[in-house]
Amino acid sequence: MAASSPMALPAAMRSIFGARSNRVLLLAARDLQAGGGGGSCPRRWQSSLPQLDHTDRSDEESCGEIDWDNLGFGLTPTDYMYVMRSSPEDLGGFPRGELCRYGNIELSPSSGVLNYAQGLFEGMKAYRRPGRAGYTLFRPEENARRMQHGAERMCMPAPSVDQFVRAVKETVLANRRWVPPQGKGALYLRPLLMGSGPILGLAPAPEYTFLIYAAPVGNYFKEGLAPINLVVDDEFHRAMPGGTGGVKTIANYAPVLRAQLDAKSKGFTDVLYLDSVHKRYLEEVSSCNVFVVKGGVVATPATMGTILPGITRKSVIELARDRGYKVEERLVSIDDLIDADEVFCTGTAVVVAPVSTVTYKGQRHAFRTGSDTLAQELYTTLTSIQMGLTEDNKGWTVAVD
Ligand SMILES: *Cc1c(COP(=O)(O)O)cnc(C)c1O
Repeated sequence: MAASSPMALPAAMRSIFGARSNRVLLLAARDLQAGGGGGSCPRRWQSSLPQLDHTDRSDEESCGEIDWDNLGFGLTPTDYMYVMRSSPEDLGGFPRGELCRYGNIELSPSSGVLNYAQGLFEGMKAYRRPGRAGYTLFRPEENARRMQHGAERMCMPAPSVDQFVRAVKETVLANRRWVPPQGKGALYLRPLLMGSGPILGLAPAPEYTFLIYAAPVGNYFKEGLAPINLVVDDEFHRAMPGGTGGVKTIANYAPVLRAQLDAKSKGFTDVLYLDSVHKRYLEEVSSCNVFVVKGGVVATPATMGTILPGITRKSVIELARDRGYKVEERLVSIDDLIDADEVFCTGTAVVVAPVSTVTYKGQRHAFRTGSDTLAQELYTTLTSIQMGLTEDNKGWTVAVD
């Protein structure tokens, strides 16, 4: 089968993506590219996607141009992104995916994502393993399943769990030089699923694109565990019963910017949202879940469709129970919060963030932070597992080699 035949490309690409060595994958993709003119990206994307080139050095161990000590949570573009499409003839499947040079993508002005916010995202981190080669991911199948659940809500086809996890691994390996050294941070991975096909009347888009890009990030807060100050918003809400608060749809995030900017201008770190019906029960922060601790009892709002079921949340519940705490998923009122000893937030980006104060109706309430807190303990335990510093007897980490 000649690589120069356009018909040969899909099958050839499939076998390449089955290859274990990413070096082989990249080289083979370049060969196809050079020989074929069919390129490594779906035809639709060809005009706008930068192509794989021979001069980049993604197979090198680390990137020399970066100041690893001053990584924030900003966007540092990396070398490759992963792209996979589903057209009507694919009947809800994603037949093939491929790595492309990281760069702008082309979308129809009438695409479903641009007009009707038919889109989802995920957030994950890959850490460099200490003392040996390779990287670790944290519970990536959970992100895959959450995307499938969200896709159902947003009327989109989704990649299989296996496709999702394999695509994440490919993206890590292709961008391996951007994975920060041990202790300096992680390679943040951002999978997207969007209605990329054109549609004018309100309806699901005719074509979907799954894409993963990556960026090296430092610890979310400089000290790793710097306490944050929240303000309760009882005017704006992020979700409502029957809405989409429980899925990671892009539609949930622009609406919180107003409240977030107001909070930041007053010196707060972020907003803590209340339920939109009673305006009395805690929901979550813009991009992380919330926990309150009182004595030996830990409480967190139950996931009933208005809060995002965080993978860090789920993991922290298990770790707190292992430590002998009683963990309750239930309605948590603002009074429960005010009465708490300790409050903390969880999420992939923040991991576990202690809350030092919460301001509600102009009143500032302070909570215990620092050493000797459950938040500190959970942060250490969880990051040790995620970074591969301790034995993972939960089976949560997935190796990328
Ligand atoms: C992503 C997100 C979280 C945290 O989820 P993790 O899986 O722990 O990263 C919490 N709340 C919201 C609104 C989010 O978008």
